[in-house]
Amino acid sequence: MTEVLIVGAGPVGLAAALSLAHQGVSVKVIEAEPALTEDHRAGSFHPPTLEMLAPFGVTEAMQQVGIRVPRWQIRDRREGVIVEWDLGLIADLTPYPYRFHLEQFRLTPILLEKLQAFPHASVDFGVAFVHAAQDGESVTVNGNLKARWLIGCDGGRSAVRKLIGTQFEGFTWPERFVVVGTVVDLAPHGFTPNAYVADPKEWAAVFHMPGLWRLAFPVHPDEDEAEVLADAAIEARLQRFVARPERYHVPHKGIYRVHQRVAKSWRAGRILLAGDAAHLNNPLGAFGLNGGLHDALLLGEYLGRVCRGEAEESLLDLYVRQRRAANVEFVQTQSIANKRLLEEADPAARRKSFDELRRVAADNALARDFLIRSSMIWSVQRASEVS
Ligand SMILES: Cc1cc2nc3c(=O)[nH]c(=O)nc-3n(C[C@H](O)[C@H](O)[C@H](O)COP(=O)(O)OP(=O)(O)OC[C@H]3O[C@@H](n4cnc5c(N)ncnc54)[C@H](O)[C@@H]3O)c2cc1C
Repeated sequence: MTEVLIVGAGPVGLAAALSLAHQGVSVKVIEAEPALTEDHRAGSFHPPTLEMLAPFGVTEAMQQVGIRVPRWQIRDRREGVIVEWDLGLIADLTPYPYRFHLEQFRLTPILLEKLQAFPHASVDFGVAFVHAAQDGESVTVNGNLKARWLIGCDGGRSAVRKLIGTQFEGFTWPERFVVVGTVVDLAPHGFTPNAYVADPKEWAAVFHMPGLWRLAFPVHPDEDEAEVLADAAIEARLQRFVARPERYHVPHKGIYRVHQRVAKSWRAGRILLAGDAAHLNNPLGAFGLNGGLHDALLLGEYLGRVCRGEAEESLLDLYVRQRRAANVEFVQTQSIANKRLLEEADPAARRKSFDELRRVAADNALARDFLIRSSMIWSVQRASEVS
């Protein structure tokens, strides 16, 4: 019998599988789609994530294709740069003092290739999780797949989460986010490869990816999706953002609904949740997948110890407490605060926030604290303190 069955060959499922396989634990991943998906969502990785992926050779492989981003800005659409952060200030705390840009569809093939090197690991594509039943010894999925443990890494609409019947507490934002990829280089316009641009009507987030600059903007609830994505509307939106005489070439665009939700329970007996199946947040700050990978690698480590008989099953409850605390206390609050900062409509409140940011950036000790939090170093430390 396979020790661990994982639902979902997204980045979180594959990372959890890789951690388990590395420890000699037999693992099978089932994925509903016929192949890895070309998912354009996540693209910005923080230092702790690079540290956690390094022992598997994943960080080194990512470095061959992605972009290092040691400096990033918070800007105002009219005023320009408010502050520019330099992760060099925390170079004593991490071997990777930068954000790292690489789309998640370029990460999943790396994870899959590393996983396939293990004979006791397998990935079955075109197999959707429908149902599971468990007893004290094992979990049976779809009536024919048996494993000792099941991990649901099947994304925001997780069928595994629905099966365990837990509440997905939180809310959905009324506005959606439109993401546009253009080959036009924004560096000559003064943008660092990552920038957050405040504006009461149309804030923006900017990410330089390999060969592409990606921009995210809010879509107001009454706007029609097809109209927002029409070529002329995208062109007008980009020209409003940075005017140029030529048209923008836009190879990619998409609209996403955005949520702030955390599952009340992440474990039901032999079934556990990780990644988007357990929590969702808006992408401002780039915490969703990073946090999901932190879940995957901690759960992989703990479950590996349980499978090898080196730890009690109660270690899995510690996983839940630690990662749930990191998500609720940091990812949820900070991603909401980031969105509020960018969209603040009251001029006095905006001025106050910008003045405070400038004060923090001008003081090395305060700037270090800011970078420790925004780079997710604090949230990983906080999780490790939860007992
Ligand atoms: C616009 C946008 C930008 C973002 N940018 C960032 C960023 O820069 N940094 C960051 O950290 N996060 C970012 N995120 C969040 C990030 O995309 C997600 O957190 C991440 O994709 C979660 O990974 P996952 O593996 O948990 O889930 P997913 O990537 O959703 O993978 C789930 C997998 O499970 C499969 N599956 C689903 N149901 C079943 C089933 N029943 N049976 C079998 N398989 C199934 C799916 O096909 C899929 O392959 C962004 C999100 C958005 C919307």
